[in-house]
Amino acid sequence: MARLGGNLASCGRARFLAVIALLLAAALPAACSDESRDSEAAEGRIRAVATVGMVGDLVRGVGGDRVEVVVLVGSGVDPHLHKPTRTDLATLLAADLIVANGLHLEGRMDEALAGAARSGTPVVEVATAIVEATGLRGPDGGLPGDPHLWMDPSLWARGIAPIVAALCELDPAGAEVYRGNGERYAEQLAALDAAAEASLASVPEAARVLVTAHDAFGYFGARYGFEVIGVQGLSTESEAGVRDLERIVDLLVTRGIPAVFIESSVSPRNVEALQAGALARGHEVRLGGELFSDAMGPAGAPTGNYLGMIRHNVATIAAALGGELPSEEASRSALP
Ligand SMILES: [Zn+2]
Repeated sequence: MARLGGNLASCGRARFLAVIALLLAAALPAACSDESRDSEAAEGRIRAVATVGMVGDLVRGVGGDRVEVVVLVGSGVDPHLHKPTRTDLATLLAADLIVANGLHLEGRMDEALAGAARSGTPVVEVATAIVEATGLRGPDGGLPGDPHLWMDPSLWARGIAPIVAALCELDPAGAEVYRGNGERYAEQLAALDAAAEASLASVPEAARVLVTAHDAFGYFGARYGFEVIGVQGLSTESEAGVRDLERIVDLLVTRGIPAVFIESSVSPRNVEALQAGALARGHEVRLGGELFSDAMGPAGAPTGNYLGMIRHNVATIAAALGGELPSEEASRSALP
C-alpha cells in the first residue's frame, strides 16, 4: 500500500483509476470469483480441466479455440486407480471449469472433485448428465453402476449438451461458437457410430462375443449386439478370482471363441491366463489385439483422440472376429 500511496501522490485521478484497474485485474484470478471468470472469458481462453481423455475431447470438440483443455489422467493410465497428485490438485484449483465422467469412474478423485465444487468451481459430470437426460438405469433399476458410457458414441453424443450449457454460462459471448461446434462434433460422432455399426454388423453372429480384461464394453455390446465378458468387474479395483477365470475358460472352450482382447490401461495378466487355460484344454485362443477402454492412445497417435480410439477398437474387434473393417469413406468422415 505504501507504494500505491506514493503513486497516488504524483498521479492524477485517471492514472489512479488505471492503476487500481491493473491491480484488480492481477488480483481477481487468484480470488477465483465469478467476476474473474467473466473477465478471463472475455480476455483469454477458459481453462477447462477434464479427468480423462475421452471427456477432454468432448470439451475440445465444443470449446474449440476458446477453451484450453488439460487432461489429468493420461494415455495408458487407469482412471479407476488414479489418485490425484499434488500437481492434479493445483490444476483443479486453477480451473474455470472441471469436467469429469462421474458414476465413480474416478473413484479416487471423487473427494478432490467434490472439494473443487464446494469452492465454487463448476463441475460437470458427463456420464451423470447423460443418465439424467436419457433416464438410463442399471439392471436393478437404480443409477447405472457402469461408468463406461463413451463406449457407445450415440450415447456419448448426449454429453455435448451439458458441456455447451456450462461453457455458455461461463462465456456467454462464445455461445454461438459453442453451439455450432457442438453440432459439428455431434455429426462426427454420428458418422463414427454409423461406420462402427456397419463394420460390426459384418461379424458373424456366433462370433459376437467380446472377452476383455475388465468390464468396460457393456454399452458397446448393447449398442452393436455383442455379448460382453470382462475378466475383472466394472472397476479394475476388483480382482478376478480363480473361479471367474475358470468360468470364462470353460466358455471359451465350449463355445469355440476364437479371440480375446487386452486393454491399454489394464495389465494383460488375466487375459494371458485365459489363453493358457484354454490351451491346456486343447483350444487355442488368439490375442485379438489391444483395445483402448478407459484411456486413449498417446497424443498425436491415431488412437490419441476419442474418434480414433473408437475406430481402432471397432477395426480390431471386427478383424479378430471375422468381420469387415470400417469402410474408408465412413472412416474419413469420422476422423477429425
Ligand atoms: Zn473401466
